[in-house]
Amino acid sequence: MRLGLVAALAASLLLAACGADTKPSALPTEGVTDAMLAAPPEGEWLSYGRDYAEQRFSPLTEVSDQTVSKLGLAWSADLDTARGQEATPLMHDGVLYVSTAWSMVKAYDAKTGALKWSYDPKVPRETLPVACCDAVNRGVALYGDKVYIATLDGYLVALNQKDGSVAWRSEVVPDHQSYTITGAPRIAGGKVLIGSGGAEYRARGFIAAYDWATGKQLWRFHTVPGDPAKGFEDKAMETAAKTWGGDWWKLGGGGTVWDAITYDAKDNLVLFGTGNAEPWNPGANGRNKVGDAANGDNLYTSSIVAVNADTGEYVWHFQETPEDRWDFDSDAQITLAELTIDGRQRHVIMHAPKNGYFYILDAKTGQFLSATPWTQITWSTAMDPKTGRPTINPDARYEQTGKLWVSLPGAGGAHSWHPQSYSPKTGLMYLPANVAGFPYMAAKNWKESPIGFQTAQDSAAVALPAIEAVRQQTLAATTGALVAWDPVAKKEAWRVPYKGPWNGGTLATAGNLVFQGTAAEQFAAYTADTGKLLWSFPTQSGVIAAPMTYAIGGEQYVAVLTGWGGVWDIAPGLLSSKSGIPRNISRLLVFKLGGTAKLPPAPPLNKLVLDPPAFTGTDAQAAHGADVYGRYCSVCHGDAAIAGALNPDLRRSGAIEHADAFKAIVIGGALHQGGMISWKQVVSPDDAEAIRQYVIKRANEDKALGGP
Ligand code: CA
Repeated sequence: MRLGLVAALAASLLLAACGADTKPSALPTEGVTDAMLAAPPEGEWLSYGRDYAEQRFSPLTEVSDQTVSKLGLAWSADLDTARGQEATPLMHDGVLYVSTAWSMVKAYDAKTGALKWSYDPKVPRETLPVACCDAVNRGVALYGDKVYIATLDGYLVALNQKDGSVAWRSEVVPDHQSYTITGAPRIAGGKVLIGSGGAEYRARGFIAAYDWATGKQLWRFHTVPGDPAKGFEDKAMETAAKTWGGDWWKLGGGGTVWDAITYDAKDNLVLFGTGNAEPWNPGANGRNKVGDAANGDNLYTSSIVAVNADTGEYVWHFQETPEDRWDFDSDAQITLAELTIDGRQRHVIMHAPKNGYFYILDAKTGQFLSATPWTQITWSTAMDPKTGRPTINPDARYEQTGKLWVSLPGAGGAHSWHPQSYSPKTGLMYLPANVAGFPYMAAKNWKESPIGFQTAQDSAAVALPAIEAVRQQTLAATTGALVAWDPVAKKEAWRVPYKGPWNGGTLATAGNLVFQGTAAEQFAAYTADTGKLLWSFPTQSGVIAAPMTYAIGGEQYVAVLTGWGGVWDIAPGLLSSKSGIPRNISRLLVFKLGGTAKLPPAPPLNKLVLDPPAFTGTDAQAAHGADVYGRYCSVCHGDAAIAGALNPDLRRSGAIEHADAFKAIVIGGALHQGGMISWKQVVSPDDAEAIRQYVIKRANEDKALGGP
């Protein structure tokens, strides 16, 4: 017996030395198995992008270009929060699993809409101000008998599919002040994969793998190097450190893995996208200033990285935006496909990150195959066809010119997280496109702070001015589109123009259809081959989420979440209303042929009145207020103090009437339970009064311009 114990101990030590401590528990043989994730049953939707390739292509054909005119509402479910809804529902065994804002999960009978159970992780509302982009969540993962949800406050939770009870809960993030999670977990051979957001705060990007059965962390790969004095975790970090200058690690470095994670089962690689380096303005901490022998690319930010799925060890990387200073996250969904390129069949990655190029890479090696501008690009003037390295427009290096630079695309991205879909039948990729410029200007004498945005922008200078002509010009130039892109021919096949940006993700089906919801409160179906509008449904609310489809007993359903929100509702101020006055009705809509269900009547649009008190401050005070507001407040309350639909518009708030009331909120934290934390760490009482005077001044300017 003792001998056996010694032998077992020796064996376990040996195994540990070989890296077997990254081995997960025995894989599930019932419920959702690896074989099912690799080849999902025709009528089911088992993972975020439907299959490992993340093509979001359904083989179902009952709803088709021939029948879609008969599509009607089968059932709907009102959600219990009214914030941005970004999730793709999953369907297995007749049950629809949906995550909502605030990381809640609901399970519905997929045929009738009856609620089976719901789960609320009770995310502290104080998390909202440290999340860049609303309390959104993009989806759950299914595996074995479990449902996995990653919560805004940084936990990975396993629920039992049967009743929503908690099986385990693991803390994923290093702290709860800079890191939040909005992405959907993915599954790779017994491991649950997740990263985090936070590259605008003080975060060091990572992706981590957890044991599906126990919640134990199996491996963690950092995307940027840490403090060299503490030693590097691996060779990849040592290599990356040569591309960083200054004391980059003090802010964390960014490079957060907040959305794209794709498991390439063929090569056993986990492929993921990384976010911007921080601060956005590289001049502020000298992060791109390195010696002559190295460049300031800041690896592995704004890149696609591949690691071994078993161990998390680095395999390859491709950086899409070297020396990023525009918030060009590479976090948009990564799609795998088999394409014939130059007469050769290749297993490739297709990627359309924020920067406006459409990339094709070899999935196994990361070899660069092509990058084609698919939208207007001003930050880059050329692309090296061999290396994939862009030539940067010298004017776009705004920290070097010291001037304001308006870039196309901007920080919102030519394409962001809104899922793309690819039809192997048409050979086209369906991209939700944003055409939205963004202003950048380097802050002077910028200093890092313990909380809030760390972008080192001159936030007062980049706010949209209260000049009617400038506003009208900016509004006119800001649009959106559904673009069908032919990756092999490297050209646009067709396009549906939209009034504004920030429309929903897309779904492609074998019925020659593409589905998409819009910011203008419509859910529409187009022919996949030509882009002809065949059907649409008024959703009463803007849509940003992607639709999915499933079948029960041979009957096909199409489901989508409504609920306008996310960063575009909030941060762009006036521009957020480009497609109409934003309205959030958070709801799950499910359609089928011949569906006759009706939505309740839409509530009337709010009548927005501006009736501010008189401005009593000084211009210098308002200018200082603009600066502090821009840095700490605008991310939630909107550019130039114009809010979207979700957070209070301070110009209309009663709190600006009285200096003491305003301070009680901003400094005293009087409204912290609703998410408005005290900012006393970084905002003094004088700053608070300056913000109040700035908001009053802005409100009066807008009233003079006739609102809104
Ligand atoms: Ca970012």
